[in-house]
Amino acid sequence: MSSQSLFEESLKYVPGGVHSPVRSFKGLHTTPRFISSAKGAYITDEENKSYIDFCMSFGPLILGHQNEKVKTAIYNALERGWTYGACEKYSLHLAKYIVDKIPFIDQIRFVNSGTEAVMTAVRLARGFTGKNKIIKFSGCYHGHLDSMLIKAGSGLANMSEASSKGVPNQTVANTIVCELGNIEDVALKLEEYKDDVAAIFIEPLPANNGLLIQSKEFLQSLRNLANKYDCLLVFDEVISGFRVAFGGMAELTNIEPDLVTYGKIIGGGMPVGAVAGKKNIMSMLAPLGPIYQAGTLSANPMAMDAGLATLSELTPTFYKQVEENTQNIVAIFQEWLSKQDAFSHCHVKSFSSLFWISPTKNEIKSIDEIPSNLENTFFDLFKIFLDKGIYLAPNAYEVGFVSSAHDLSIQKDLKSKLWD
Ligand SMILES: *Cc1c(COP(=O)(O)O)cnc(C)c1O
Repeated sequence: MSSQSLFEESLKYVPGGVHSPVRSFKGLHTTPRFISSAKGAYITDEENKSYIDFCMSFGPLILGHQNEKVKTAIYNALERGWTYGACEKYSLHLAKYIVDKIPFIDQIRFVNSGTEAVMTAVRLARGFTGKNKIIKFSGCYHGHLDSMLIKAGSGLANMSEASSKGVPNQTVANTIVCELGNIEDVALKLEEYKDDVAAIFIEPLPANNGLLIQSKEFLQSLRNLANKYDCLLVFDEVISGFRVAFGGMAELTNIEPDLVTYGKIIGGGMPVGAVAGKKNIMSMLAPLGPIYQAGTLSANPMAMDAGLATLSELTPTFYKQVEENTQNIVAIFQEWLSKQDAFSHCHVKSFSSLFWISPTKNEIKSIDEIPSNLENTFFDLFKIFLDKGIYLAPNAYEVGFVSSAHDLSIQKDLKSKLWD
């Protein structure tokens, strides 16, 4: 069946035909491609058309699709049975591997998604500090839990509002939204609510609303403010963890968060998330402490082995190679864009193995600075690329992900696809 007829049938059985909204190609006026298989840097749809994939399942696949080592790990795990709901050594191996390599982490707990990791971190921050409110930043995404589906209000200053229906007012009142890059804003809000802020949550490399690279000074000032007001600093490294460096942005900037959340790469493409931090905070979790958290399928042994097989590949040489791939790919895109009348204003921003096609050459640090022509430009670009066999994440605000599979031969293919 074609993507078109599969989508039409899905619309009957599933809201919007999808299980996560971005997959619907909303606003792009074309049918979502139904993917039948994937290998290396390519995905293939039901019409048997192949694309160079720069979505890579939105981040987890830093080794590309069907990496042989990860595949073998999953096959081997499968032979043992795929869930026990009991203690096993496989999650210990992954926990030990991570904790031994990241200096500011004493303990880690595995969950099933990034959302669940952030949800646990929110409760842990509140339970540990005995405070209620959290600070987040406009332009950072932390999953679909109630307390993070909050945006800056359009009306009165300092009032936040829900970015989804179904979020109670009490929850809205407990989330304070600040502007990225604006440390005075954070300082003012902390002063205003000083006795009641449990934690400052940030994506230290905001990569869910374009690529809004923050200065090290800003992140360091957040660390200082968290110390001053006795609240926790939580780095949401669901995208940046194990991608920009093994220890994520915390390692790159040498700034220690009190808690960190992981997801995406940590499971190598299987559903895994994690919250980690110092022992005095982590030991507040049940069964040791009074903060409850649990999961029927948490630390699923097959997912743990896929994660370990993936993380085991992430050496300094590996990062060097993937970043080199990224620089080459960025240069290829940039050259092509600069020769097109319709897109010569575009600039490919990148950080480590992430890139984003920005509609301006200006530096952008907060969502307010993103030009209003972003979506129109992306709409045109996305369709041209799709025709040429190049698959970007189907939304203007999503970044592109490069893997070790995006090697020289893929770069050559990208060049010929673009110029054909
Ligand atoms: C993807 C993402 C999440 C949510 O993770 P899910 O596994 O989709 O629930 C949370 N925070 C950040 C920074 C993310 O990029």
